[in-house]
Amino acid sequence: MIFNEKMETMPREEIEKLQVRGIRETLKKIKESNSILKKKYEGVEPEDIKSLDDLKKLPLLEKDELREAYPFKHVTVPDDKWMRMHMSSGTTGTPIINVMTRSDIEQWGEVMARCFYAAGVSSKDRIQITPSFGLFNGGFGFHYGAERIGAFIIPIGAGRSRLQLQFLKDLGTTVITAIASYPLRLMEVAQEIGFDFKETNLRVAILGAETWSDEIRKRIEDEMGVDTYDIIGMTESGGVGMGIDCEAKNGIHVWEDHYVVEIIDPETGEVVDDGVEGEMVITTLTREGLPLIRYRTRDITKVVSRERCDCGRTHLRIDRIKGRTDDMLKVKGVNFYPSQIEAILMKYTQLSPYYHIVLEKVKGKGSMTIVAERRNGFSSEDLDRLSNELYDFLGFHCHIQIVPEGTLERPQGKAVRVIDKRIK
Ligand SMILES: [Zn+2]
Repeated sequence: MIFNEKMETMPREEIEKLQVRGIRETLKKIKESNSILKKKYEGVEPEDIKSLDDLKKLPLLEKDELREAYPFKHVTVPDDKWMRMHMSSGTTGTPIINVMTRSDIEQWGEVMARCFYAAGVSSKDRIQITPSFGLFNGGFGFHYGAERIGAFIIPIGAGRSRLQLQFLKDLGTTVITAIASYPLRLMEVAQEIGFDFKETNLRVAILGAETWSDEIRKRIEDEMGVDTYDIIGMTESGGVGMGIDCEAKNGIHVWEDHYVVEIIDPETGEVVDDGVEGEMVITTLTREGLPLIRYRTRDITKVVSRERCDCGRTHLRIDRIKGRTDDMLKVKGVNFYPSQIEAILMKYTQLSPYYHIVLEKVKGKGSMTIVAERRNGFSSEDLDRLSNELYDFLGFHCHIQIVPEGTLERPQGKAVRVIDKRIK
């Protein structure tokens, strides 16, 4: 199923022509606005962008530049065009606000509708939306897309896991949308109350907003009996829906008539070759309130392919997000992402999906403890095997603490994986 055949299957050369035009328009919007970001582009004119390669001439935009513009100094449209705002969670500092116009909300509905179709969801479906409806963009994004495709919307929002399960069964929900770790909580509550997913019509879960390993993905698919889809997007890009994987499950399509993706070396800022891992940088082509040029997302991924996909779409595919540059941990001189530890832990189905990576400084030296929850029958041989696997990956011995299931906190929103007690 393809929502917008003309745009989604457009030949590469045509996509690139559209992108060049879009970059020029985005640059023009910023330069003609009162945004404090316009000073970044002094000396460069929209007509200087003649090919996609010319994008590299423009400077990268950092998260901190948007934070410093708080609350509205980066908005490019007059306030009579403002319709609503969404905001980044702000757990790591001043939040970033994205002010949206009517056209922005329509663009959001369009890309979200494409995402639903790519996941095989249509007007016949009943969609239970479990992210919150508020400053976080998740709830509204799924809502607009679902409305656009004409599906039945169950806008329950975040929390109330027992009611979520009850609705899944009673209301005949076929599709659930959620923050990636939320199904884990639902699975746990289901087990506590003897709820059986087989007795529901649920068939698709669209998940995002967090890094989730392939192993967690498999666990959700097996236990809930669903097909999962990985959706990407963030407040700054205009919310969830920038891209999603399709039935071919061979990379995440990014809607290239709305966004240009570049992958850079996070150290040097240079664009890397396709297939090489680096930081995702995005340029918006159709956004009004917060148009972005070469915005550093801090997400780590790579370009998988620019060829036409088995699903028929021509928009490029990137790999599932491996982590964020600021999530990268460095212990005893070894760099790694929490998702890589997760992938090892989740091979053991006798462990619950909740774990903590605790980093401390003991007698001046870095120390790492993995706290994992025993589910059923995690034996001392399993512990030995896990310990060896972690050693093979990390190259140093970490402490492993196995605790009874239910010991670690179940957060309401995004999952907490790393507890860093080191003095920075
Ligand atoms: Zn595809």
